[in-house]
Amino acid sequence: MIRKTFFLTMLLSASIVIHAQEKFPEPEKMTPGMSAFWNPQPVVVKPGKVPCDKPTPAPSDAIVLFDGKDLSKWESVKGGEAKWKVSGGMFTVDKSQGNIQTKQSFRDYQLHIEWQAPKNVEGESQTRGNSGIFMQGIYEIQVLDSYQNPTYNSGHAGSVYKQSMPLVNVTNPPGEWNVFDIIYTAPTFTKDGTYRTYPYVTVIHNGVVIQNNVRINGTTANVGFPQVKEHGDGPILLQSHGDKTTTCVSFRNIWIREL
Ligand code: MG
Repeated sequence: MIRKTFFLTMLLSASIVIHAQEKFPEPEKMTPGMSAFWNPQPVVVKPGKVPCDKPTPAPSDAIVLFDGKDLSKWESVKGGEAKWKVSGGMFTVDKSQGNIQTKQSFRDYQLHIEWQAPKNVEGESQTRGNSGIFMQGIYEIQVLDSYQNPTYNSGHAGSVYKQSMPLVNVTNPPGEWNVFDIIYTAPTFTKDGTYRTYPYVTVIHNGVVIQNNVRINGTTANVGFPQVKEHGDGPILLQSHGDKTTTCVSFRNIWIREL
């Protein structure tokens, strides 16, 4: 009996050693495609024309971030002045200059912003009229020429990028203005840097709700899943997308109301 127990103990020990030496496969490296899902697609809805034809005037308590004249409320993310070109009451992304952001930081707000994809269509999917509006410089609401332009669902115009597809696709044709009204609630954090309360966002696109008080789960990177990184108040950041197209998105009539 003693010999039998000794033999079993030895066998078990040998098995533990073998398992300890066993190498498990490394997890596969994330690629952009792993977090890009094509089905379902948002249903296309044609917006009413009236609200989109002319800029919505800012209410009396709004901070006007761009009134058609200059980018004095903005700066380059790399440092220095924002040098995107201002012309005809609008400004246009300049890829040689990189991202720009507001000089002022914000927490909770209502943001009104109008944007236009280039009339001369170039590229497809994510390389057609791609920019973005980042809440607190971190969480991207996608700007994209989503008019008759198939792409993955949470990459369409008005998506919380790579997290939440728009409820419908209400994007105007390239060369016409789109209106975003974004209501944003900033997150709060616990002492260990995790969310006490998540960030939330509502987006109205051309008068139609496309994000209804949606929870943002973390960063909106192209590769990988959302990460939680503690932060305070932050700017509105506009994206200079890294694609190779020569035509770029324009913006006009930007104002914000702190809540
Ligand atoms: Mg973008």
